[in-house]
Amino acid sequence: MADSAFNMEMPYDQVVELVAEALRRAGCSPSTSLILAKNCVGAEIAGSESHGLFRLEGYLATLRSGWVDGMAQPKVSILSPAHIHVDAANGFAQTALAAARDALIARTRACGIAILTIGGSHHLAALWPDVAPFAEEGLIAISMVNSFACAIPVGAKSAILGTNPLAFAAPVPDGAPFVFDFATTSMSNGDVRVAAREGRRLQPGCGVDRHGSPTTDPNEILDGGALLPFGGHKGSAISLMIELLVAGLTGGKFSSEVDWSQHPGAATPHTGQVIIAIDPSVDGAGDWNSRCSQFIEMLRHAGMDTYPGLRRWRSRKRESVRVTADVARLLSLASQGAHD
Ligand code: NDP
Repeated sequence: MADSAFNMEMPYDQVVELVAEALRRAGCSPSTSLILAKNCVGAEIAGSESHGLFRLEGYLATLRSGWVDGMAQPKVSILSPAHIHVDAANGFAQTALAAARDALIARTRACGIAILTIGGSHHLAALWPDVAPFAEEGLIAISMVNSFACAIPVGAKSAILGTNPLAFAAPVPDGAPFVFDFATTSMSNGDVRVAAREGRRLQPGCGVDRHGSPTTDPNEILDGGALLPFGGHKGSAISLMIELLVAGLTGGKFSSEVDWSQHPGAATPHTGQVIIAIDPSVDGAGDWNSRCSQFIEMLRHAGMDTYPGLRRWRSRKRESVRVTADVARLLSLASQGAHD
């Protein structure tokens, strides 16, 4: 990619095709390549820089290391009227979700609430793209994923938690869905790596070094240190809940059980994912549409000129990717892969 390309825009479709081709060359099936490429490019456009094109190198290295099966065919099972399980077969969680998505929507509409458990899956992406589409279908969705041991729960001495993100999406009448999505650590591992690369210090309280002493140096956190949960004991308990639900309900691993030491370059945690979907239009309990509209109005009266999800919703409408120096480097990597 030429220097003159920096800070220019590249059409969404063109970037998706380039990234998908690189993934295909690294051993991904055409359908999974397209799913991951759309995920990365969509996150990039929406400003999720730590989980946008930044993740491409991780995907390519992981595929080449043999840690993940880019050709995996997920197996969908209906365990009860309101419980769908997918064995991702050591493939990517997004492919497993795509295989079960329509069934989850149908079961949620039929039962009012349904759960999708995905086991044996790899997730390296932002979580909001997994839940936001349910809100666009009029459903509420909550999702959680655990990752790899890099965070210490309050009261513990060793890192057993992942960065364990939690995402929530709900439909807003005549508006953008209400969506939030964040790691339950002080910051995501991706952001620690971005700070290390840019030579930036972190805020105090984010993590500790390999001796357990507080540090603001991202390299010390990455080099044998650990992150801390957000919000002290409160974030710690939420992250513990995610470990328990994901490993307990999906058959996936605890973050502390992820061992990729035999696969140098592997970057995708091999765990599981839970998605709980609720149909708020079920008659009898409440009146979602009118209460939700009142809620958004109440936020406005309280002085909030936005709500979670609105900024991202607006940026998702962009149809091109801003080619910064970092993006240009990654696209150049993708285009090399495409022409190997
Ligand atoms: P952030 O700390 O950036 O928080 C993101 C959320 O908070 C978004 O919902 C965002 O909304 C909102 N937000 C951010 N800043 C503000 C603000 N100043 N005021 C109000 N709301 C704000 O997220 P993290 O760094 O913790 O996580 C980043 C991503 O990493 C997530 O997408 C997460 O899923 C992903 N992740 C994935 C993992 C995996 O294993 N797959 C592991 C850990 C994290 P908005 O964007 O609409 O502004």
